[in-house]
Amino acid sequence: MTPEEFKQHGHQLVDWIAEYLETVDTRPVGPTVAPGDVRRALPEHPPLDPEPWSDVVADLDRVIVPGLTHWQHPSFFGYFPCNSSYPSILAELLTAGLGVNGMSWVTSPACTELEILMLDWMRELLALPDRFASTSPTGGGVIQGTASEATLVAILSARWRATGGAVNTDGDTTRLVAYLTSQAHSSVEKGLRIAGIGTDRIRIVDHDESFAMRPDALAAAVADDRAAGLVPFFVCATHGTTSTMAFDPTPEIAAIAHDTRMWLHVDAAMSGIAALAPEHRWVNDGLELADSYCTNPHKWMGVNFDCDLYWTADRAALLGALSILPAYLRSAAAEQGAVVDHRDWQIPLGRRFRSLKLWFTIRLDGLGVFQEQVRRHVGLTQELAGWVRADDRFEIVAPHPLNLLCVRLRAGDAATDALIEAANGSGTALFTRTELDGRSALRISVGGRTTERRHVAAAWDLLRRLSPSG
Ligand SMILES: *Cc1c(COP(=O)(O)O)cnc(C)c1O
Repeated sequence: MTPEEFKQHGHQLVDWIAEYLETVDTRPVGPTVAPGDVRRALPEHPPLDPEPWSDVVADLDRVIVPGLTHWQHPSFFGYFPCNSSYPSILAELLTAGLGVNGMSWVTSPACTELEILMLDWMRELLALPDRFASTSPTGGGVIQGTASEATLVAILSARWRATGGAVNTDGDTTRLVAYLTSQAHSSVEKGLRIAGIGTDRIRIVDHDESFAMRPDALAAAVADDRAAGLVPFFVCATHGTTSTMAFDPTPEIAAIAHDTRMWLHVDAAMSGIAALAPEHRWVNDGLELADSYCTNPHKWMGVNFDCDLYWTADRAALLGALSILPAYLRSAAAEQGAVVDHRDWQIPLGRRFRSLKLWFTIRLDGLGVFQEQVRRHVGLTQELAGWVRADDRFEIVAPHPLNLLCVRLRAGDAATDALIEAANGSGTALFTRTELDGRSALRISVGGRTTERRHVAAAWDLLRRLSPSG
């Protein structure tokens, strides 16, 4: 591709993206293809000669788009939002255009320094504790690809601290025990597995009727393990669980963690962004006692995937766990301690220039847009809850302080499952099923950038029409 062709096709592609986003509401929300359809619609072997741009775009329209779940659709109420925004899309393009690898300060000083500044900006916008600031004596923040990576990094830091660093040499990790509830995200157990903590050393702590961790159950489990000669090393509190958006009581959990010197990680991947609006800052309760924290602008803030923000109050443990310095990565600036090398703050070596997405989005859309979005989604969810309460075929099965509502049909699990299948099959809205203590529930996650009252009203209308009459 020549520079002239790049400019021409680039303009066409930007037009294509805007057209897609502005008309996505006319498409079925979920995919309409059967397994294998996409592959069968494309040639089995790669072309030997270059093809024209127009042929590629034609296949994009013909094969790829019908094979998508439209996450940017205003009637997408599934999983959790994975928002994008125009400033962030442009920043993604710029990241690709610059093509730098920000693994160390010296490999692109602007990449490292803008990222540190963006983490400080976000700390301020979310009103997070000072101990996470890059200027604090022991803390700091970094962009991770996903909350799953953030959680793994937290676990590895905890393991390093609990073994006094011996884990890197010949340390014994076989007595370390971790604590979470059945409502914690699956990435916590996955991270523990990767860190060599087997199921027999993972304690699933009881939750209460609001699906939040019971501190008395945590305290009892910790006491039992210590009596058995085991070492509690990691507890994950979730602020906004994936199934129901439950909030674990972090202040009480922190008191137990503090007594045992356990690492306390708070996973707020979805809900932490609510703190952009001052009236929702309760979502930060207890963070001043946490060792690490993460939240995802790629879920609820319009910053394209991938962008998870990870802060720690103990960067020495993080660096102890993850920094390795082969000769080819040494630099004078790093050796004098004048700079931060972000490769030591994450699992991979290489890293994309992701902070451009935050910088563009914060500067070009601005705080007011994000606050309006959080408030709109929370308001719509509360209004929806009112409509559900007025229909006695339905029941609300969990507290719903923010933008997720979990409902079920009183007629039972089979009826609830059938409703979810019928609603998703309609193509006019998309929901996710979950199980809460063995019972089916339908999750309605209200988080689309373009989701308005009429979309929520239509979704509720759909659910009512598809439900058996009382
Ligand atoms: C979405 C979510 C995750 C996983 O997020 P990724 O960034 O995709 O890894 C983890 N925890 C919670 C609470 C979530 O909502």
